[in-house]
Amino acid sequence: MRITAVRATPVAVPYRSDEVWAFGRRSGLVSVLVEVDTDEGLTGLGEAAAYPSADIVLGALRSVEPLVVGSDPLRIEQLIQRIDVVGTWHHIGASSPAAAAVETACWDLLGKSCGRPVVDFFGGRFRDEVEFFHYVAAGDAADVRDEGRRAAKAGARVCYLKVGADSLDTDVERVAALRDGAGPAMGIRVDANEAWSPGAAIRAVRELEEYGLEMVEQPVSGRNLPELAYVRGRLDTPLLANESSWTRSDQLAVLRHGAADALSVDQQMDGGLLNLKRSAGICAAAGLPVVKHSLGELGVAVAAAVHVVAATPNFRYPNQGYGALLTDDVVRGAFGGPLDNYRDGRLPVPDGPGLGVELDPEKVARYADLYRTSAADFTFHDPRALLAAPALPKR
Ligand SMILES: [Mg+2]
Repeated sequence: MRITAVRATPVAVPYRSDEVWAFGRRSGLVSVLVEVDTDEGLTGLGEAAAYPSADIVLGALRSVEPLVVGSDPLRIEQLIQRIDVVGTWHHIGASSPAAAAVETACWDLLGKSCGRPVVDFFGGRFRDEVEFFHYVAAGDAADVRDEGRRAAKAGARVCYLKVGADSLDTDVERVAALRDGAGPAMGIRVDANEAWSPGAAIRAVRELEEYGLEMVEQPVSGRNLPELAYVRGRLDTPLLANESSWTRSDQLAVLRHGAADALSVDQQMDGGLLNLKRSAGICAAAGLPVVKHSLGELGVAVAAAVHVVAATPNFRYPNQGYGALLTDDVVRGAFGGPLDNYRDGRLPVPDGPGLGVELDPEKVARYADLYRTSAADFTFHDPRALLAAPALPKR
């Protein structure tokens, strides 16, 4: 089998309510859908988050295309090395979502060529369903309380809330409201996205711990691991690394510093599914659990991750997902996308060959059109956020 073309379609899908983090807001997400065509008539699917922008992803895909067209898509290790080393992309982190989308499409092609689901290539089903957290948008306390109730009703085990974008009093008010709405059994994971200084982080987390936290995610800079370890040593709540653990080499550094109790791993930030499995293995060797991170994904990327997470024991906590925020998806059937597709916060491993998902042409056309007309509303490129977030750390 040979690759004949790499096709890319950016799409924009709206949220129910704005996603707000320490450095901006967006009203939906943009993903680039990738279709890898072959001379045997099979097409593999991949998806790249628009990170840092759809234009960067599209540019990276155009650069990668001559490296992969004509190649055997089932020589996946060779293909990703060609992109990284021959294509000299290995020093450029921004290329990773594009490379990961092509790599994922090759796993889809492998599965379609032999009639097996991708989970079978990564160790087989360790679990039949993959659990996700319920993403609670950081809005007014009353809205946060209502969303906590919705999460509990939907059967979620953990709610996720961004902190660090506003004053500590506001964060405390939101976490208190979330506990009130979601009830005593709900895990609450807070993510500061590096917004705090070490001293501020310790003070803030101790106040938030009054309401019971499951984990605190990246409270301080991801680039100062001794300080991350210092903060971890002074908190009772387990610390989840994220911005400090994008790649395998980053994860190794976090482990060497004893800087986290759990690590986020992400197939889009480190070249694809094979490296996602390797990331989990590195952390498993250190005795630590991992959580699947998401830059904001639709059904293709979610399905890809579900296959690997289902096959890997140390994904023991609810993973990052956008089901509570998204209004729709681009794949056929009830997979990914809105919360209605989840059962108790869980998605089943797709049974079909490859990734086991298909694009819905009508929805792809609709959301590609929305990208063409309104892309600016769906990115974090909000100039007003600069005034609210002048520097790292914020305080
Ligand atoms: Mg995070």
